[in-house]
Amino acid sequence: MSTKVAVVTGSNKGIGLAIVRALCKQFNGDVYVTSRDVGRGEEAVKTLNSEGLKPKFHQLDINDLNSIKNAAAYFKGKYGGVDILINNAGIAFKASDTTPFGVQAEVTLRTNFFATRDVLTHFLPLVKAGGRVVNVSSMLSASGLKQCSPELQQRFRSEDITEDELVALMQQFVDEAKKGEHKQGGWPDMSYAVSKIGVTVLSTIHARHLSTERPKDGILINACCPGWVRTEIAAPGAPKSPDEGAITPVYLALLAPGATEPHGKYVSDKEVQPW
Ligand code: NDP
Repeated sequence: MSTKVAVVTGSNKGIGLAIVRALCKQFNGDVYVTSRDVGRGEEAVKTLNSEGLKPKFHQLDINDLNSIKNAAAYFKGKYGGVDILINNAGIAFKASDTTPFGVQAEVTLRTNFFATRDVLTHFLPLVKAGGRVVNVSSMLSASGLKQCSPELQQRFRSEDITEDELVALMQQFVDEAKKGEHKQGGWPDMSYAVSKIGVTVLSTIHARHLSTERPKDGILINACCPGWVRTEIAAPGAPKSPDEGAITPVYLALLAPGATEPHGKYVSDKEVQPW
């Protein structure tokens, strides 16, 4: 049987690194640290090596389409696809950052939503039967949803929203934010929350596609919140360690063979949450 493989984006530090650490211990296959910066990625591999773990490394900058295509071609060529994909890479501006809101909206959505979508566009077709896909979203996607206008909430919860419609709505937020009109447009005043609404809804859309287009493959895709975790993104006072933050993403990545749920859900603390 061919070697199984797990790929974690943005795994040179924080929750991503902790996910790789946990998968190295629990997953029977090759586990890849990926990082946009080769030096930072290799340092992460050394850290895990010093703990007796043996992850592998591949460069992957999710904002660079060529990097995504190169990585996808590498995993297709070496493994015939991927068994586990964890979209963890993400960014957040600090609350104290004075960058104009419109710029923060564009930059945050570019990485957290549009680049994550690019990874899925190129990697989802490579996910093997029985594969597991985990998109690291945030509890702020759920609280941000409640702050959207009733019309937007209805679309983000609907069973018939398409990927094109979601992409157009995310772009609409950026365009309105640049003009200072996003609040009139029914959006919350938090770019990060909107970007993660996009990640959660994209997961539900892909789940529906997989169920109709590859019904026999048993692939499960879910969005999750890791909890509030002490990393560069969050405050040092956050309650969870990165290893604790990795627990729910790893649980979803290792759902038992043959499991049929959760699928297309938003999960935190290993429990499906209302959306
Ligand atoms: P960190 O800042 O510690 O880690 C973020 C990781 O993403 C880094 O490895 C970073 O790489 C990488 N990254 C950013 N942009 C890119 C890119 N373009 N291509 C590839 N990698 C990239 O934060 P966390 O570990 O906390 O965040 C991990 C995920 O968890 C994020 O999606 C975040 O939104 C989410 N999350 C975190 C919470 C928390 O409390 N910490 C709560 C809810 C969700 P580099 O070192 O090169 O910058």
